[in-house]
Amino acid sequence: MIVVSGPSGAGKGTVCSALLDICPELVLSVSKTTREPRTGEQDGVNYFFVTQAEFEQALFEQDFLEYACVYGQYYGTPRSTVEKMLTTGCDVILEIDTQGAIQVKESRVEGVFVFLLPPSGAELRTRIKNRGTESLENLQRRLAAAAQEVALASEYDYIVVNDRVEDARDRILAIIQAEKLRTGRNRELIQTISEEVKA
Ligand code: 5GP
Repeated sequence: MIVVSGPSGAGKGTVCSALLDICPELVLSVSKTTREPRTGEQDGVNYFFVTQAEFEQALFEQDFLEYACVYGQYYGTPRSTVEKMLTTGCDVILEIDTQGAIQVKESRVEGVFVFLLPPSGAELRTRIKNRGTESLENLQRRLAAAAQEVALASEYDYIVVNDRVEDARDRILAIIQAEKLRTGRNRELIQTISEEVKA
């Protein structure tokens, strides 16, 4: 499981979708949220858009690997779908906030934690303003929250600067590839080859 966090405007959505375009074994976990869909967003693709009551029902049924209230709206990762995807051998990417990432870290599910940073604070502010999808109130809320999010970057395993989407994408790809080569993830292979060498 690859957990990607970063402040609003860091470009998580763009970088993750660029990654999905080139990695067939990678799947995105689609979260449930109580927030309203933005123009162009599709139910079941960007999010499962649910009512507060539906979210609370899923919470009651313990079907969230993690959940958080972000900018006044609820967001959660459906546990059952993530577990299903992991058992089929896929790598699952979770694009979630820092509160959610902390919960995943505390759960028993193994994950690699990547924090996406903008090249500068000024660039971040420009990106959020240029997005134009937010009301003034939401915009100010996102700017204030960005500082709090960045303060938690040092808790993550890797820091990736999103200066160019393709470069950020390739850096995360390199992280995934290196993580797969970790000794701990290759014990069976070592065992098999050492038995073959002995035979
Ligand atoms: P947005 O409303 O811009 O799509 O997302 C707002 C924030 O919520 C982003 O930081 C995004 O990463 C985060 N987010 C999206 N889905 C989830 C989720 O399932 N869990 C948590 N904890 N955060 C999420």
